[in-house]
Amino acid sequence: MTATSSSGAELRGAKIAIVGVGKIAVDQHIPAIAGLEAFELAATASRAGGVEGIENYADITGLLAAHPDIPALSLCIPPVPRYDIAVKSLMAGKHTMLEKPPGATVSEVRKLEKLAQAKGVTLFATWHSRYADGVAAARAWLSDRKITSVQIDWKEDVRRWHPGQEWVWQPGGLGVFDPGINALSIMTEILPNPVHLTAAELFFPKNRATPIAANLNFVGPAGMAVKADFDWRQEGEQSWNITVETTEGLLRLTDGGAKLSINGVDQTLPDVGEYPGLYHRFAELIETGKSDVDISPLLHVADAFMVGDRKTVDAFHD
Ligand code: NAP
Repeated sequence: MTATSSSGAELRGAKIAIVGVGKIAVDQHIPAIAGLEAFELAATASRAGGVEGIENYADITGLLAAHPDIPALSLCIPPVPRYDIAVKSLMAGKHTMLEKPPGATVSEVRKLEKLAQAKGVTLFATWHSRYADGVAAARAWLSDRKITSVQIDWKEDVRRWHPGQEWVWQPGGLGVFDPGINALSIMTEILPNPVHLTAAELFFPKNRATPIAANLNFVGPAGMAVKADFDWRQEGEQSWNITVETTEGLLRLTDGGAKLSINGVDQTLPDVGEYPGLYHRFAELIETGKSDVDISPLLHVADAFMVGDRKTVDAFHD
C-alpha cells in the first residue's frame, strides 16, 4: 500500500492520547499533533509524568478507565512492551497507531491486525520514513523504470541518537535494525517489485544482545542486486542514503528520504514532514474505516536474523 497521503482528511479536533512520552513522542508526535487540525492531544499515559498541561495517567489502564471519550491512541513506546498495551487499546475499541517497528515479532503484529478487524477499528502500523518528503516522488519515478542495482547506506552514531537507551541493546530491541528498518521501509515503498534477502552479516558487540552493524544482500527481478549497509559506529557526518541505478540514470534519496535527486538534478519536493504525514494518514484511515499494516520491512529484518552470519566485535559502552 502506498504511503502517499491525500491531504483531504476531513477529521477535525478528534481527541487522541499518547502512551509513552519519551524521545520520539517529545521530538515528533506532540509537535505534529499540535500542528494539525485533525487531532487534539487530550491525555497521556506516562510513568515519567507526561506533558505539562495535559491530563496524565500512570498507565493505559487508568487512561482507558477515565476516558471512554477518546477514540484514538498513539503508542510511542519501544517494541517489546508494546504488544500488551496495543491489545488493551484495541480491546477498548480505540483506533490505534503503532510506532515502528510494529512489534517485537512478526506473529504478534498479525494478531493485532486480526484483533483490530474483529473490533472494527483502525490499526495503523506506521513507517515514518515512508513519509519523508522525497519518497513519494522516488516511488513514482521508479514505477516504470528498469532498475539495475540499489545501494543503501544507513550509518549513524548510536550515542547521538539513542543516548542511554538500554532497550535497543536488549532482545527485541533490534540494535542497528532500529534505524535500519527505516531504510527497509523506504526500499519496500519505492521499488516496484519485491526483493528477498539472500545473505547477511550481523556484527554483535561482545557485551550486547543486538547487532551494532549489518550488511545485507537482496535480489530482485532478473538478478537485480540490492545492498544495504547499516552501521551504528559512524561518527561525524551521518549517512541515510539510497542510490538506485536504472537504465535511465541515477536516483538518489538522501537525508533519510527528505531530499531527492534524479540524474544529479535536485527535485522540488512538498514540505510536509514525516510525522504530520503520518497523522494525516491516520486521520484518513479512521475516516474511511481502514487499517494499514504492512509488515514487509519487519519480514526482511526477521530474515536477516534467520540467515545472518553472526560475528562478534568489540564491546560497546555508552
Ligand atoms: P524511549 O524514549 O526510550 O521510550 C519511549 C517511552 O516509552 C519511555 O519514555 C516510556 O515513557 C515508555 N516506555 C519505555 N519502556 C516501557 C515499558 N517497559 N513499559 C511501558 N512504557 C515504557 O524510546 P523512543 O526513542 O521514544 O522510541 C520509541 C519508539 O519510537 C521505538 O519503537 C523507536 O523505534 C521509535 N522511533 C524512535 C525514534 C528516535 O529517534 N528515538 C525515531 C523514530 C521512531 P513513559 O516514561 O512516559 O512511561
